[in-house]
Amino acid sequence: MSEPILLANIGEPDSQTLEKYRSSGGYEGLRRAISDMSPADVVEEVKKSGLRGRGGAGFPTGVKWGFVPKDSSKPRYFICNADESEPGTFKDRLLMEQDPHAVLEGIIIGSYAIGAREAFLYIRGEFADSYRAMAAAIDEAKHASLLGMKILGSSYSLEIHLFRGAGAYICGEETGLMESIEGKRGHPRLKPPFPAAVGLFGCPTNINNVETVANVPLILRKGAPWYAEIGCERNTGPKLYCLSGHVKRPGVYEAPLGVRLHDLIYEHAGGMWRQGLKLKAVIPGGSSTPVLRADESDIDMDFDSVAKAGSLLGSAGVIVMDETACMVDSLLNILKFYAHESCGQCTPCREGCNWLVKIVRSIEDGKGKSADIDLVENVAGNIMGKTICPLGDAVAMPAQSFVRKFRHEFEEHVRLKGCPLKGAH
Ligand code: SF4
Repeated sequence: MSEPILLANIGEPDSQTLEKYRSSGGYEGLRRAISDMSPADVVEEVKKSGLRGRGGAGFPTGVKWGFVPKDSSKPRYFICNADESEPGTFKDRLLMEQDPHAVLEGIIIGSYAIGAREAFLYIRGEFADSYRAMAAAIDEAKHASLLGMKILGSSYSLEIHLFRGAGAYICGEETGLMESIEGKRGHPRLKPPFPAAVGLFGCPTNINNVETVANVPLILRKGAPWYAEIGCERNTGPKLYCLSGHVKRPGVYEAPLGVRLHDLIYEHAGGMWRQGLKLKAVIPGGSSTPVLRADESDIDMDFDSVAKAGSLLGSAGVIVMDETACMVDSLLNILKFYAHESCGQCTPCREGCNWLVKIVRSIEDGKGKSADIDLVENVAGNIMGKTICPLGDAVAMPAQSFVRKFRHEFEEHVRLKGCPLKGAH
């Protein structure tokens, strides 16, 4: 296992303090950016590093920063999305709780790069510890002239607002999040226009995930060529993977992008939690991504390789299931979550989610018919790609993949009029 880079400070005494962060080179990236580089240089450096967004989509961060118009008369905003809510994902809160200055430095550098004078950190409401750690870090940074008026004696000033969400999954969707900051319901917006041109309060806005911004200080401190050496082609840098489910040691593990999924499961997380049980399935990128069968799961964990294997790296929330897991019950669990979190704007999502829950529940309870199995695929197909935001796809993708890959289990539930694995897990 390679030496941690992103998690280097985690677990160290006083890792949250400015003194500790600075003792290992913290804020040197910001100093370099502000003293020696123009905002355009910073954007170029991040482009050269190859950093791709860690929130799920994997879009190149420097390219995204470059989309924010320079000639607009309106203010520009930088948002850090800390509304981490995807089931199976718990990495951003670790960074905020234990290394808040890394997140803060990334936000300040990103804000400088796009010319924002105000930034927002949107924290999931339940993350009280993250909120406290980030609030304390902001105070410390202000007192040290790393934030606020004339940062490090330069002409650049930045204010950061901490904003606590109220616990809705949909506020993690970028435009739902912006509506929420504006004091409205977290209803995702139709796109275009995209946030780079028309975002928060109708102004040009860039939004990045916590882990993404935590990579930025490393790039500025050590340089893009150093960063681009980590990982694999088109997938550079260190990555945080969240391992949960039927493994011995669930937790957050760091490895370069492109690590083998079986290394994560069997080496980092210690393999199956109970002796003698075999791997049955893995969800590689959070509960909204398509499930992989055990025989498909020995893959490289980078954006392109997971897509090639028919799923998505997403938020790298790796959910491991052994042979005691009932795939019908597991799908039902996922569907109930998204049905609860649908904002209700789009008919396919609002109605389809609830229908999927009803159909899969009846199969799990032994009341389903053979035709219901096809109906699950049919309803999911009528949601996929037909909604305002990706929550629709987040329901359709697991529904389709569970049925396609484990159809025999659904059929067995119908044939036996119940769950053959009840009590096994
Ligand atoms: Fe709301 Fe679902 Fe439509 Fe997204 S897809 S806007 S969550 S109804």
